[in-house]
Amino acid sequence: MKKDLTISGVSVRELAREYSTPLYVYDEGMMASRMDEFTSNFRSDKFNTHVAYASKAFLCKAMARLVNKKGLCIDVVSGGELYTVLSAGFPAEKIYFHGNNKAPYELEYALKSGVGTIVADNMDEIRDIAAMAEGLDTVANVMLRMNPGISAHTHEYIMTSAPDSKFGMALCDIAEIAEAIKEAEKTGHFKFKGIHSHIGSQIFAKDAYIAQIQTMSNFIHDLESEYSLPVKEISLGGGFAAYYTQKDEPIPVDEVCRTIIAECEKQKDAFALSFDTLSIEPGRSIAGEAGYTVYTVGYGKVSAGKKYVFVDGGMGDNIRPALYGAEYRCDVISEDDNGEASVCTVAGKCCESGDVIINAAEIPNAKKGDLILVYTTGAYGYSMSSNYNRLPRPAVVFVNGAESRVVVKRETWEDVASHDVTE
Ligand SMILES: *Cc1c(COP(=O)(O)O)cnc(C)c1O
Repeated sequence: MKKDLTISGVSVRELAREYSTPLYVYDEGMMASRMDEFTSNFRSDKFNTHVAYASKAFLCKAMARLVNKKGLCIDVVSGGELYTVLSAGFPAEKIYFHGNNKAPYELEYALKSGVGTIVADNMDEIRDIAAMAEGLDTVANVMLRMNPGISAHTHEYIMTSAPDSKFGMALCDIAEIAEAIKEAEKTGHFKFKGIHSHIGSQIFAKDAYIAQIQTMSNFIHDLESEYSLPVKEISLGGGFAAYYTQKDEPIPVDEVCRTIIAECEKQKDAFALSFDTLSIEPGRSIAGEAGYTVYTVGYGKVSAGKKYVFVDGGMGDNIRPALYGAEYRCDVISEDDNGEASVCTVAGKCCESGDVIINAAEIPNAKKGDLILVYTTGAYGYSMSSNYNRLPRPAVVFVNGAESRVVVKRETWEDVASHDVTE
């Protein structure tokens, strides 16, 4: 039993008292040092390197400002993310705009804002971007998202011969792709910059990245040698794992960076590839472990031998367990000695049986008023949150050293109903 715990030296009990629960808390210093770790290790003498934070993992204006301060680039996948980072003062030229189905108004917004790189997902989009850039009398810098036919998740990765992912273009369509690029470049408003691929998320296998680099190097070599299309930038996406439970063994950041750099240097020499910039796009590995959720315990019950403890949030603030069985660990914070640990289910307050945060947590008895601190909720928690059951979204607090501050205000019932038309 823990009487209290700290995040960056700040008492969780104090945070709960000051900002109320449920509450998202981020250790800003930890995110900053993760970013530094990426930028200092992802370097080569043979080419430039970019680290772009994949903002869909966790985004608010304070986060965009932190990413900018640390000198990283940023990825966005929608007009809303683009709006958020631009209004936080993020330099447009350091933004990569991804997405498999960007709307015309999103592409127009990106082009008018001077977004540095648009990552086109299909051949129709290549044509649309060229036409739109011509109409706006600007130049679009475009990378192409390829599907390398490798899908990686946790320790396993599979090479699929018939790629059926909704993302990216098939490697075998190289001739049509080269044709589409050349047509687009004829407008004088389309600049082909490079090739992008992304193989998945929560990846523990270094070999998956090696396989990706080898596959993409082959493809890029073909594009350069057979179709005379120089590929100046290569992006390998993200997917670097975070530590959620003791089952997880993420590859240390320095190690995964070194592995990728070494393999890319090798392939650059072997194929005489012309790229001068290599990019990666970590999301989860920057925001995940730095984020925590603090809940207050309400009721509990035992249903047919299954022990439940209910918290004041749930699938509205963390859909991942319900969505795809994501696992978390937690601690109970209590004034009292609540006895030995036993297995119980930490569930939320939503009207849905799947509204569970942790299925089999081994924790001491938690009673009404105790706090539960859930670890590693920083990625895809707040960013996937909803108002299901009209629950207001929790506040987001950044802790840095001994200081804490609200970076996203807690929603109110009025906020939740604020877009309803009254008459
Ligand atoms: C989601 C995504 C990322 C980040 O993935 P993480 O698993 O959070 O590192 C990077 N690049 C692209 C294109 C993505 O879609």
